[in-house]
Amino acid sequence: MIIQRVVLNSRPGKNGVPVAENFRLEQSAIADTVQVGQVRVKTLYLSVDPYMRCRMNEDTGSDYLRPWQLSEVADGGGIGVVEESKHDNLAEGDFVTSFTWPWQTVAILDGSLLQKLVPQLVNGRLSYFLGAAGITGLTALLGIREKGHVAAGANQTMVVSGAAGACGSVAGQIGRLEGCSRVVGIAGTDEKCSILVQEMGFDAAINYKKGDVAKQLRELCPGGVDVYFDNVGGDISDTVISQMNKNSHIILCGQISQYNKDVPYPPPLPPATEKIQKERNITRERFLVLNYMDKQEASVLQLCQWIQEGKLKVRETVVEGLANIGAAFQSMMNGGNIGKQIVSVSK
Ligand code: NAP
Repeated sequence: MIIQRVVLNSRPGKNGVPVAENFRLEQSAIADTVQVGQVRVKTLYLSVDPYMRCRMNEDTGSDYLRPWQLSEVADGGGIGVVEESKHDNLAEGDFVTSFTWPWQTVAILDGSLLQKLVPQLVNGRLSYFLGAAGITGLTALLGIREKGHVAAGANQTMVVSGAAGACGSVAGQIGRLEGCSRVVGIAGTDEKCSILVQEMGFDAAINYKKGDVAKQLRELCPGGVDVYFDNVGGDISDTVISQMNKNSHIILCGQISQYNKDVPYPPPLPPATEKIQKERNITRERFLVLNYMDKQEASVLQLCQWIQEGKLKVRETVVEGLANIGAAFQSMMNGGNIGKQIVSVSK
């Protein structure tokens, strides 16, 4: 059977900026028959995520991420529908997902590596299982619960960087649901800032590409910052940390501003910021959602319940067509997405 797939065409280099041309669409063949234990699936949605930047390097810099190989099919979070099954627990028509879904239109996969999805849990919006009801939502929820020390009634102010992105937009809303009294986002355009406040219930949002971030932060967080959900690192984080209170907490979710640089993860803080962190006893522990998968099932149900109740608003940026997945990745790394970046493959 002839299918289409996307392979890694070239590496951007550890300090390079990734471009769509780092990926290549090509035709390939898969077996016509499905073996016992396998299923043939049609791909519906693929996720593109910042961590994939590390997989474009020969050495990803972390022990839990495998590098993509040149001219081999890329993979990541994906959702599809079963077209043929020789696996006992899966039937034709089932919707399934995996963290290692190949970037191809049709695939034969080991059924035991797939999780079955219940579309009703997300009001039929299947792609949410890659975002707010998937790893992104889990990252926000578990990051806050494991590292945020948020307590209802404690009058805490939370700041979220990368706030209009997949994790950030969910994290700010969950911060409020879990009890923060004030939530302020930092994002890269006025449109994003407006969506955060008008749609997602943030109290305020700062466009970090305009004006003085430190000054705006002082005005918007008059009592200082108690919880910082950090997606970006770099200058933005130095500015936020300088306004954090004693015994406050950083949720070290990601450091996207450093991903095109050859630095260790997590990147060390500059000396002046590190001094503040130590003097004020601010926690900054590494957080990796994959370390908390024992809480996955209950946490996904919580996220789905909030989505169904309308308490968690979801935004997606959907790009059509497998051929455009490289462009979607490039765009997301440059701030082109609002909410979760998804590629729809079926059309
Ligand atoms: P995302 O925020 O949806 O997409 C990336 C966004 O980051 C862009 O839209 C852009 O928005 C912003 N950005 C890009 N370069 C930037 C820079 N130099 N400075 C400031 N902002 C920049 O991505 P996501 O999926 O939600 O991931 C957010 C972070 O969480 C990433 O660092 C990711 O690696 C991390 N993550 C961690 C875990 C974990 O287990 N710890 C799990 C999932 C994701 P602007 O317009 O605002 O610039």
